Amino acid sequence: MVYMDYNATTPCDKRVVDQMLPYFSDKFANASSIYLPAREAKKAVEQARGNVASLLGCSSDEVFFTSGGTESDNWAIMSTAFKLQDKGKHIITSQIEHHAVLHTCKALQKRGYEVTYLPVDRYGMIDMAQLKKSIRKDTILITIMHANNEIGTIQPIEEISCLAKTQGVLFHTDAVQTVGKIPFQLKKSGPDMLSLSAHKLYGPKGIGALYIRKEVSLPPLIYGGGQERGRRSGTTNVPAIVGLGKAAEIAMEEMGKELLNVRKLRDDLEQRIQQSIPEIIVNGHPESRLYNTVNVCIKYIEGESILLSLDFEGICASSGSACTSGSLEPSHVLLAIGLPHEVAHGSLRLSLGRYNTTEDVDKVVSVLPGIVERLRQISPYWQDRKQ
Ligand code: PLP
Repeated sequence: MVYMDYNATTPCDKRVVDQMLPYFSDKFANASSIYLPAREAKKAVEQARGNVASLLGCSSDEVFFTSGGTESDNWAIMSTAFKLQDKGKHIITSQIEHHAVLHTCKALQKRGYEVTYLPVDRYGMIDMAQLKKSIRKDTILITIMHANNEIGTIQPIEEISCLAKTQGVLFHTDAVQTVGKIPFQLKKSGPDMLSLSAHKLYGPKGIGALYIRKEVSLPPLIYGGGQERGRRSGTTNVPAIVGLGKAAEIAMEEMGKELLNVRKLRDDLEQRIQQSIPEIIVNGHPESRLYNTVNVCIKYIEGESILLSLDFEGICASSGSACTSGSLEPSHVLLAIGLPHEVAHGSLRLSLGRYNTTEDVDKVVSVLPGIVERLRQISPYWQDRKQ
């Protein structure tokens, strides 16, 4: 099997699994209890929190564990909206956010909030001047993702943070696709809140975190037993947190080298696809883009048919995001960068990671042009294209 869908999820690193295993059985105690095994579980959780904090460049008490990126996004947006509703009910986001952000904003619109969905350019980049113009007296939150999961475009979050700060507006960023992938450290001038998810950095599924800057007192979204210093209740998921901690530790040690390897493979793959398949469009920003992501629209054919043919060859890839595949609507991200419906339908995303090799790239390049040619031969759009 060739796996090239690392933006959808990553395999759990074997070292992560090994670290987690004892916490399912021998070290199973509830981290909130008071006896020795419980105190040991709690210690492991705090060590994991420390690792995540070091990876982000913040302090441990600014890291709160959640069930993943979706919950972190919901928490940041919903709780800010509820807390600041007396100040205003206006939120700014972008048209290309993950549905964890977009659908949360839509839910708030139903409760009387106003949301500005900033458009993006051909490369998926927001316009800073337009963002500045969109800020109003009643704006309470800007939520703009760090890197897009489909096309990989990286937004200027430092600049957005500075702007938000000078305007007195809170800034949240969904960094699910960048934490553990690209090195960055949260500075004083950075975002006020940041979402991350373990399963995108070789950790387990169902665990993530929300960074909340010390000065921001975000109320809980989930109430109960008062875990996570009263901010996020629910029995502590010790094995998963330990896994996230280990994944963060590995990322800190290996990210630099991994980045170079994966970028080399990705560049080679993208170049060879461009050379061997006519009439394609490469999506995403030419420079400010995740180093592991290739997103192309292959004109005149359906992305879903390409995926099925690749699957037949043992290659795992995706078309649009994992959440939208299976639906007939083309990706909202590809439509937002201005692609016509019929072109957006022909999208293919190949996202690479830790375990890809040059052989994987060779395999994809050896089968993809043939698949495209075969599908185009049976496509009426291909036959009609010159008429
Ligand atoms: N945000 C982005 C940008 C993502 O890519 C994803 C996952 O696909 C999520 C949020 C949701 O994260 P999780 O799967 O941990 O809920």
